[in-house]
Amino acid sequence: LAKESGKNNYQFFTEKLHARATRKLQIKNALSTAIEQNEFTLFYQPQVDLHTRKLIGMEVLLRWNPSFGFVSPSEFIPIAEETGLILPIGEWVIKDACRQLKEWEKQQLPKIRVCVNVSARQLKNRDFPLTVKKIIEEENVNPNYLEFEITESIMLNVEEASQLINELKKLGVKIAIDDFGAGYSSLNGIKNVKIDTLKIDKSLLENVTQNDRMLSMLKAVIGVGKTLNAQVIIEGIETKKQVELLKEFFVIGQGYFYSQPLPPEQLHDVWEEKWKE
Ligand code: C2E
Ligand code: MG
Ligand code: MG
Ligand code: MG
Repeated sequence: LAKESGKNNYQFFTEKLHARATRKLQIKNALSTAIEQNEFTLFYQPQVDLHTRKLIGMEVLLRWNPSFGFVSPSEFIPIAEETGLILPIGEWVIKDACRQLKEWEKQQLPKIRVCVNVSARQLKNRDFPLTVKKIIEEENVNPNYLEFEITESIMLNVEEASQLINELKKLGVKIAIDDFGAGYSSLNGIKNVKIDTLKIDKSLLENVTQNDRMLSMLKAVIGVGKTLNAQVIIEGIETKKQVELLKEFFVIGQGYFYSQPLPPEQLHDVWEEKWKE
């Protein structure tokens, strides 16, 4: 015990750093073989029209189960971006989501869109639109049912981003701006591009039921989406109270209130639109 408490801060600090570096290295190594080892799966989370309570789409969320235990995307996606592994991984995600879309079509389930997250690193790759085009052709899906969620930070280079978005839109796919209101919120970036969906970050929903100021801010951001003629999705809806409060804005909601992200085999209730009242 004496020895324990005798440890100085420096030693404690370096040990922590070491543990973190070891973990990162482990993730890096395992990520590089994750596709061939079949360690990835896709979960789907419903997007629901607050007013009609109809299912309108599902966000595709990547899940990774390496041998050493589940790792959250917020931990491994940044590492995949840093190493460039996000390129093959991201391609796998789009392919598998399209394969699933086709599967649902075969089962004659209601037609809904699937929304795939893409990193800045993927978008910066000049071949990205071509890769998408190939996948759409190979999987033989209707591109109108495929939406890409991009974060507003890529809009910092407005020229490049709008060119890319236009190129993608020519393929028939839809574009959503993700996490809007959390980061730079560059209105300059989005004013000249035709986006289909604006996803408002869940941080803007915090305290909205207790605090009028928060509600006014959220209202203003919803207004931005409407002005852009985009569909507005509010992320992170967890309570009935939030739904009641937001209903009057004619928006779409996504969050644990409706459903957690689920694997395809657990989506029965989602397809039957069995939401909580
Ligand atoms: P995101 O795109 O903003 O996804 C929404 C995140 O919020 C998901 O976390 C989802 O599980 C979580 N969420 C949904 N409803 C609620 C709610 O009611 N309350 C709260 N607190 N959270 C909720 P997840 O699945 O851990 O993903 C985290 C982030 O990782 C995503 O944020 C996205 O940026 C990234 N990500 C996930 N899958 C992929 C992928 O295939 N490719 C890329 N590039 N990034 C991905
Ligand atoms: Mg997203
Ligand atoms: Mg995101
Ligand atoms: Mg988001």
